[in-house]
Amino acid sequence: MSGFTARIRRTRPAATFAMAARARALRAAGHDVISLSIGEPDLPTPDHVIAAAHAAACAGETRYPPIAGTEACRAAVARKFTHDLNRPVAPNQVLITNGGKQAIFNAVMALIEPGNTVLIPAPCWAGYIQVVEFAGGTPVFLPCSASSGFRLDPARLEAAITPASRLLLLNYPNNPSGAVADPAMLEAIAGVLRRHPHVHVIADDIYEHLIFEGAYHTIAGIAPDLADRIVTLSGVSKSYAMTGWRLGFCTGPADWLAAMGLVQGTATAGVSTISQAAAVAALDGPQDLLIERRAIYRHRRDLVLAGLAAAPHLTFTRPDGAFYAFPSIAGLLGRTSPAGRRLATDDDVADALLDEALVATVPGSAFAMPGHIRLSTAASDDALTRACARIAQFCGAVK
Ligand code: PMP
Repeated sequence: MSGFTARIRRTRPAATFAMAARARALRAAGHDVISLSIGEPDLPTPDHVIAAAHAAACAGETRYPPIAGTEACRAAVARKFTHDLNRPVAPNQVLITNGGKQAIFNAVMALIEPGNTVLIPAPCWAGYIQVVEFAGGTPVFLPCSASSGFRLDPARLEAAITPASRLLLLNYPNNPSGAVADPAMLEAIAGVLRRHPHVHVIADDIYEHLIFEGAYHTIAGIAPDLADRIVTLSGVSKSYAMTGWRLGFCTGPADWLAAMGLVQGTATAGVSTISQAAAVAALDGPQDLLIERRAIYRHRRDLVLAGLAAAPHLTFTRPDGAFYAFPSIAGLLGRTSPAGRRLATDDDVADALLDEALVATVPGSAFAMPGHIRLSTAASDDALTRACARIAQFCGAVK
């Protein structure tokens, strides 16, 4: 990459995709690998959503959309945000993006430049580190301990803020820990932010419908007085099993949103009209499926926790949301794998689990929290049961 820009030289591929590629290669070579590396619903996109996309294509909705999104899609998202944020959100306060990921990219690229620091509670989604470094900003991690359920301690936030702090990234339910925010915690964070008016916030609520304990709360709803420096984003990827449709959305203050539209207009312009029609059907259609699917993911979480409880040396807390388990593998470090490999880091553990137990996970260091591994629980009961049995057997045979 030496012939390319500094921006490219400092950007690394996401570890989750790298691990998934290794698992695919092993499978192609004939190994029975169970891949729990990528966070992707295995359930199908609902039929009525697919029908709406087909109807849109047949009706000629096949031309360039406006950069910020089709009127119908922005209106559907505005209704959703009006409900969630408990205040009127107009369609022109909404930006439709290529997945939640582009909403984050737009927001960071619009706000962050070299010299800025970005406060990121850890563990965090690997994508945040990538985009902040791409923009030239410096990530500052705020470690959240397992004993606090991986929730951000407002005192730690307060202590980390400097004049260079431009942005705080909040993600609840959290990938990879499954931590869920409660109103008291968000209120305390808002209290800190009120004392530091130069700090902006991205609230990444992409797992909003995957909450097993507690309910969905977001900082812009809790602290409407801070709304002029908060971008709230979500999308249909996780909730409606539509990762491939690439449809995310966000709302925020007019100036930040306009700057984000400029980033998007420069890179990709408007999102596929077909996907926007599908998103309208998802958002405006029957919502019972969210409850049904939440029950499925909850059952899987419980299955995995029971399975991991049988694995010596692993410790974990119960994830209250999202579809991941994030056990500590600290008890395995300094030991030797069943095939005789030294386990010095979480990378070694994830590598050995893949090569020896044929289970693909992602090391916690990819999420700025070494000493852990992340397992996606968005897989069939059978795959999860077999994967946990393999992990337990591996851990039991470690020397
Ligand atoms: N935020 C978080 C925390 C995620 O885990 C993901 C997907 N893994 C995204 C954003 C991106 O979602 P999308 O597929 O909608 O781009």
